[in-house]
Amino acid sequence: MSKQAIEAIVAMGEAVIQNKELLTDLDAAIGDADHGINMARGFAAVIDKVGGLSPETDIGTVLKTVAMTLISTVGGASGPLYGTAFLRAATAGQGKQTIDGASAVAMLKAAIDGIQSRGKAVQGEKTMLDALEPALAAFEKSVTAGKSLIESLDQACLAAKAGAESTKTIVATKGRARYLGERSLGHEDPGAVSSCILLQAVTDYCRKQQGTV
Ligand code: ADP
Ligand code: MG
Repeated sequence: MSKQAIEAIVAMGEAVIQNKELLTDLDAAIGDADHGINMARGFAAVIDKVGGLSPETDIGTVLKTVAMTLISTVGGASGPLYGTAFLRAATAGQGKQTIDGASAVAMLKAAIDGIQSRGKAVQGEKTMLDALEPALAAFEKSVTAGKSLIESLDQACLAAKAGAESTKTIVATKGRARYLGERSLGHEDPGAVSSCILLQAVTDYCRKQQGTV
């Protein structure tokens, strides 16, 4: 139901806002100290916008609203990147009122393709893709193996966190952090961490929906 899609988006927004300082601190180390500010501003607007949607809206429209809001309110690189991700996921979710494992895989895949085509980065360049690509691989493997959506999301979160952690060992070649060269080593990429936060928020929301916590 798109009521649940809206609630999941609100949960993502709240998690981003709660982690505003963490994300800004990470960006202070290797960027320009605005990732938390950018993301919190964008998602505060998103929470506001999706709150005005009808519960009968299809999931594609919910996600498209998120995308357009992020693109228009986030100043940094992350706005168009996450905006494109949500826009591509919206296309994959067009007309749907429910999401199963296979469609969730398709949506995450579409989102990542969008980030890649927009930002021209690949895995291993110290960006959000270093969390999202391993998350997709783990998620798809788990869904294909017939595991539940929650279990598969748990696997995706674990892989995303390991991927974000691994960015400490990567010299940045994309985004502002590339200006630091070797000095970007030892720091986690802020966008990889915000991707983990978004995935974890969806996972926590789905678990709550199942009444398993
Ligand atoms: P800005 O870099 O413009 O200040 P943010 O601080 O909001 O924007 O976002 C920085 C994050 O954006 C980085 O940590 C990185 O994960 C992500 N990023 C930057 N450039 C790219 C790119 N070309 N492809 C994928 N992700 C990128
Ligand atoms: Mg920044």
